[in-house]
Amino acid sequence: MTWRFALVIEPAASDDPRSDFADTFRVIDPSAPALTVGELSTQRGDGVFESIGVVNAHPQEVTAHLDRLAHSAELCDLPIPHARQWRQAVVAAAQHCPPDGEGVIKLILSRGVEHGPAPTAWVTAAQAADNTATRERGIRVVTLDRGYGIETPANAPWLLLGAKTLSYAVNMAAIREARRQGADDAIFVSSDGFVLEAPTASLILRLGDRFVTPAPNGGILHGTTQLSLFEHLASQGHETAYETIPVDALARADAAWLVSSVRLAAPVVAIDGREVPLDREVTASFNRYLLSPRD
Ligand code: PLP
Repeated sequence: MTWRFALVIEPAASDDPRSDFADTFRVIDPSAPALTVGELSTQRGDGVFESIGVVNAHPQEVTAHLDRLAHSAELCDLPIPHARQWRQAVVAAAQHCPPDGEGVIKLILSRGVEHGPAPTAWVTAAQAADNTATRERGIRVVTLDRGYGIETPANAPWLLLGAKTLSYAVNMAAIREARRQGADDAIFVSSDGFVLEAPTASLILRLGDRFVTPAPNGGILHGTTQLSLFEHLASQGHETAYETIPVDALARADAAWLVSSVRLAAPVVAIDGREVPLDREVTASFNRYLLSPRD
């Protein structure tokens, strides 16, 4: 049976000294209408969000997600979320997750209602899709042009390319295009030929003994899962690196994964129709680590 939970937050100013924010939360019926007409998150996708993986009622990497939420808010000129308030909202949501299984907690901060006085914010929790088959069998991907050069993010910060905004229509269109091409997912590449990220995940390549990911230089999201895996790999003595990766490096990859908070590590078994070796042992160890409690 699927489960869902939702609460609305009255966002506090970032310097609010309170230690307990329980009275700024209002639990709502997750199946009832909740947003007001004129809500800018729905009218314009004008807001930011996070998706936190939950394993056996434990929300994973909350600090990294709150830090990225604050970074996205800053890039979008939204009020900086109060870290203690949002952490308490995550804990409240996690308390409603069943003790076993995987879930997802979403944090949403919207610019609010058109002409309204304040941003709106809410937190939901829900059962995650079953990703077991994807983690074991892997996914086929195609490369798709993201439509901008590697220098564009620095020259055009208003494109908000490093923010996790609610405007995911382009990302979803890319996944549909990948499916039209017979693949499961996509890897975005810059128009001048560098590897970026997937529409909803970061890319990690194994090149020989090194684990490499595209540098998060403002054009892609810095993935919390990739960050956590790199810390884990480094603690085990593996070499990890952030690099500017040309597209032709994909053909030299000894293994590749799309990694994200809910799907975790999905091994890539083909890129543009060319087979990529599936490293079952490393993939299983990645997912064992990612399913362990992480803070
Ligand atoms: N890149 C994009 C565009 C994403 O949407 C996501 C996750 O949704 C990621 C990367 C991976 O981020 P995380 O590992 O924090 O889930």
